[in-house]
Amino acid sequence: MHALTEERKLIQESARQFAMERVLPLANRLDPEKGQIPRALIDEMAALGYFAILIPEEYGGMGLGAFEYCLVAEELSRAWMSVGSLIARGNNLISTLKYLTPAQKKIYLPRMARGDYLGAFSLSEPNAGSDVANIACRAVRAGDHWEITGSKYWCTFADQADFILVFARTDPQVDPGARHRGISAFMVEKPRGQLPAGCQGSVIPKIGYHGWTTWELAFDRCRVPATHLVGEEGRGFYLASVGLETARAHTAARSIGLARAALEDATAYAKERNQFGRAIGDFQAIRFKLADMATQVEAARALLQAVCAKIDQGLRCDTEAAMVKLFASEMSERVTSEGLQIHGGAGYTTHFAAERHWRDARLTKIFEGTSEIQMRIISDALLGKAVAP
Ligand SMILES: Cc1cc2nc3c(=O)[nH]c(=O)nc-3n(C[C@H](O)[C@H](O)[C@H](O)COP(=O)(O)OP(=O)(O)OC[C@H]3O[C@@H](n4cnc5c(N)ncnc54)[C@H](O)[C@@H]3O)c2cc1C
Repeated sequence: MHALTEERKLIQESARQFAMERVLPLANRLDPEKGQIPRALIDEMAALGYFAILIPEEYGGMGLGAFEYCLVAEELSRAWMSVGSLIARGNNLISTLKYLTPAQKKIYLPRMARGDYLGAFSLSEPNAGSDVANIACRAVRAGDHWEITGSKYWCTFADQADFILVFARTDPQVDPGARHRGISAFMVEKPRGQLPAGCQGSVIPKIGYHGWTTWELAFDRCRVPATHLVGEEGRGFYLASVGLETARAHTAARSIGLARAALEDATAYAKERNQFGRAIGDFQAIRFKLADMATQVEAARALLQAVCAKIDQGLRCDTEAAMVKLFASEMSERVTSEGLQIHGGAGYTTHFAAERHWRDARLTKIFEGTSEIQMRIISDALLGKAVAP
């Protein structure tokens, strides 16, 4: 295993304790009833600095890197992936840091670091999923405001967030050769617990990732002050891409947390459950499954730590970030499925968390770029871009 510094060990241990003592009991209670992550827990996370890990110290953040961010994400996701995901709603939503003006940084970052200003991310649309450049939602300048009109899809946390980072087309002329141009990003502020004025929405029924809701949004001349444009007009696509390495590492960390949960739960169950007069953990079929699961988790973590080290050194690693996202999420689905199998019929009930780990791991192959999209990135690096997109 990658050597952890003393500081990192402390961060890991503290996150582990918080996850197992505070998050896990809530996950076990709230996931089956599709309840919301309580605000009190979010406040505890804020007090621990979990929304501030990547925010520079001068803005009240912890000034740490992707390595620490992923350490915490793995621990939280071991208890509940939704909570492991929640930290991305602070931490400057990763991508925006480079593009905020000094004035915007002063306004937003200290509040975000304190957990008082958490965001939702609204990039996807009904017809812009993997093909993000197909964004059709429009923003039109009206004096000192912009007006956003159009449909967005899959916006997680839209209701509970303090703002939604919305990507919309500001240039109506779509260049077929460069469709990613002409898209801009806006901080759409809103009261917590409501959607913004000029925006209606409905909750998308999901099979997992409970604890918060994911929304279909319809913007109708939603007014945003001109000062809430993030980065340069027409260059929002770059903003969406710049944080992808860290975002993909974060998804890998979440996948690893889930797989570790499956491994730990299955190991405990294998010691307790007796059949044929002995613990099922005595059967080689079960022992070898656990051995294989543990090996896969370690392999994914080693790759993740190597990728995080590169990110933190400022080295470009988009291909490696795609590799770890692909490897860890595919691993997580396999390992959580085996975890469920080791529980036998009990694994197919909601009495055990094995099914939650499995349902949530399934999602890691889809969001933050599907496995197929990661393979496309990796194969493009090997072969050059394919002629057919
Ligand atoms: C629970 C959940 C929460 C989400 N939260 C958010 C959020 O908060 N904010 C946000 O903006 N988005 C969010 N998303 C959206 C997510 O990022 C998209 O679902 C994802 O990018 C895939 O897009 P799609 O669902 O439209 O699938 P599609 O792009 O329609 O893909 C369908 C299938 O085709 C494959 N495919 C597509 N293009 C290619 C290609 N070129 N080569 C090979 N295969 C291809 C895909 O891999 C997939 O298997 C969320 C999604 C889910 C499910």
